[in-house]
Amino acid sequence: MRITDLKTTPVAFPDPPLRNAWGVHAPLAFRTIVELTTDEGITGIAETYGASVGSVLSSESEPGQGPFAAARRVLIGMDPYHLNRIRILIPSPRVYQAVEIACLDIIGQAVGKPICDLLGGAVRDRVLFAAYLFFKYDGDDPWGEVNTPEAMVREAEMFVERYGFRTLKLKGGVLPPAEEVETIRLLRERFGPEYQLRLDPNAIWSVETSIRVAQQLEPYDLEYLEDPTWGIAGMAEVARRTAIPLATNMCVTRFEDIPQAVRASAVNVILGDHHSWGGLTAFQRLGHVCATFSLGMSMHSNTHLGLSMAAMIHAAAITPNLITACDTHYMWLQEDIIVGDMFRFEEGMLRVPTAPGLGVRLDRDKLARFHERYLKSQERMRDDTAAMRRRDPNYLPLRPRW
Ligand SMILES: [Mg+2]
Repeated sequence: MRITDLKTTPVAFPDPPLRNAWGVHAPLAFRTIVELTTDEGITGIAETYGASVGSVLSSESEPGQGPFAAARRVLIGMDPYHLNRIRILIPSPRVYQAVEIACLDIIGQAVGKPICDLLGGAVRDRVLFAAYLFFKYDGDDPWGEVNTPEAMVREAEMFVERYGFRTLKLKGGVLPPAEEVETIRLLRERFGPEYQLRLDPNAIWSVETSIRVAQQLEPYDLEYLEDPTWGIAGMAEVARRTAIPLATNMCVTRFEDIPQAVRASAVNVILGDHHSWGGLTAFQRLGHVCATFSLGMSMHSNTHLGLSMAAMIHAAAITPNLITACDTHYMWLQEDIIVGDMFRFEEGMLRVPTAPGLGVRLDRDKLARFHERYLKSQERMRDDTAAMRRRDPNYLPLRPRW
């Protein structure tokens, strides 16, 4: 079997005004759909980042430019089974990951097996996810404004009631630290010890603030505190001064970061992400490395659609030591691009797809509509700070802010 073409389609879809340490999500989110065709008539699909400020994929919107255009030149004529060769020829993990998933989708369809079966098989039938709690502005969504600790408890109640989550992750770095500590206090008061709580201020606190806030958080039995401060050295300093496990998707983002983080005892948990680490095989390898160094493992998420959702479920299903709930933004998505129903959380879990390949197919009408929305959009790139400055012209994304 030979690859005959690679096609990328940028898409845009509505996103609620979710707040974070950089600003706020703009009204439209962007992703890129990747399709690989073969001489046997099988098409493989995958999803990757849309353009964002400073990202490697930002030139992708120009036809013939960008890393996927370079990947296309490498891939045409290659056998989709030859992933080890393809990985060497496509050095960017963010580009390779989409190619790997599209190739595995092709192979899965060819042999009639789901992707997880091609990578050793699933160790679980359902994958546990966390409710991803965001402070937010009022928007064109059913969730309303959430800008106080009390409102956040109501948001958490809605997610728990609708989807049965047992792990609650709060995206912090938005309100002053004392108010986020109060939010955690109220969440713990409302949700008993059988619920896991996490807080992620995206490294917007100084080392000193992180140490002080971590000590204030200690009574509330956090599962982990994610990226309180910037960098391996800063995280190591905080780790020495708190009993709360520290997690990261910011100071350990590549295999090359792991030796230094382990030597410094900077983190207890690494959040993997197949989109940035280099695909499902890289995610599985990260699982082995975490087990080797007695590190916990979790999963990071960006705003995404159902192709990424399916890939994230396969990734979690083939990684035995990923026993904590994974992150996903999917509960904020109002319309997907896949054929049929959206994924539906039951008891905070999603079922591992069993259909051949990725397990979901692209709805061509929706793809056309999502692409049309992209073409009509004024913005073509994610920029949370610009979106915030449209609300508040004086806003500056200071780091550290507190
Ligand atoms: Mg994070």
